[in-house]
Amino acid sequence: MISDKLTSGLTDKLTQEQVEGVRRLVEQAQNVVILTHMSPDGDAMGSALALYWWLQTSKDAQVIVPNAFPDFFDWMPGADRILICENDVPKAQQCINDADLIICADFNEPKRIGQLGQMALEATCPKILIDHHLFPSDFADVTISYSDSPSASELVYRMLYQLGVKDLSLEMATCIYTGMMTDTGNFAFNSNHAEMYLIVAQLVALGVDKDAVYNHIFNAHTEGRMRLVGYCLNNKMRIFPERHAALIYVSGKELYRFNFKTGDAEGIVNMPMQIKNVYYSVFMREDKVAEWEKERANGSKTKIKISMRSQGDRPVNTFCHDIYNGGGHKNASGGEYYGTLTEAVNLFLQNYEKYFLQD
Ligand code: 5GP
Ligand code: MN
Repeated sequence: MISDKLTSGLTDKLTQEQVEGVRRLVEQAQNVVILTHMSPDGDAMGSALALYWWLQTSKDAQVIVPNAFPDFFDWMPGADRILICENDVPKAQQCINDADLIICADFNEPKRIGQLGQMALEATCPKILIDHHLFPSDFADVTISYSDSPSASELVYRMLYQLGVKDLSLEMATCIYTGMMTDTGNFAFNSNHAEMYLIVAQLVALGVDKDAVYNHIFNAHTEGRMRLVGYCLNNKMRIFPERHAALIYVSGKELYRFNFKTGDAEGIVNMPMQIKNVYYSVFMREDKVAEWEKERANGSKTKIKISMRSQGDRPVNTFCHDIYNGGGHKNASGGEYYGTLTEAVNLFLQNYEKYFLQD
């Protein structure tokens, strides 16, 4: 139960129109599909699964993710019921065809989730977007988009709170907490929001074991991942002192040596910023071009996934947007490059002085 006492300090973030829009669409629906982004992270998993646990008591609900999520999310309540589109495209298409409501969580435009996004765009049923990325595309009937919100999972909590949902199950609370924790690096960044801790207090009061959630996510890596981290920091990290920047890039061959699995590169991009005076960090890794993106890849067999992080008033989203066809938040962005790792690195070397500040 959401106790009035603990949440009394929470202000209403969503507009009445958004809340009533969700209420109406959810009431009318019987068959709800919940989608989240490619390479799901804790917030994607958390926001989508929290919605699932909310809806499944009275409706048919199905979470579909574009591709596999890392093993360290296997423990999350409901993770075993998720449909991975890439593994069964016809089934995903069938679910979307049968849906009378689609809820998109933690991504701002369908084109970012590949073929699943295309299916969602073609579906005629109503759609709800609940997200915290900049520049949401205008495809949903109800758009709940707040880029100042630290996580989509927090927005799910706020939505349920404003809807007056009384029974927040332990499953829902655990999923919401997971998203809030992971998208703030265990409350290390984007976390100067007093109300966030009111919500955390409520979730813990509901029985969430926050220490266990931490262990499930941050102390559950493979040996290969740990050695990959060591290799990246020791052998691969280049520092550009005059721009306070660090660059790490790894080829597919190098990743293979460390038995690379989905999620193993998670967080490596943040590590160089532990060095004093390093305020920008860039991580690039080579990946294979998937079947559905062959056309986009224009003959290239490899794609380079680029991640950038920064501190303070040093945007990295413009660099990602202009050079790597990407974007994101001011301090956490990414992009993709269809071509070789050398080409992607050269683009960085040619451009970083233009985009990275000297002080
Ligand atoms: P990550 O580095 O963890 O993959 O992504 C960090 C953030 O950058 C994401 O939350 C998202 O906002 C943004 N991002 C990552 N990759 C892409 C991309 O290919 N295109 C766009 N538009 N944004 C991206
Ligand atoms: Mn998120």
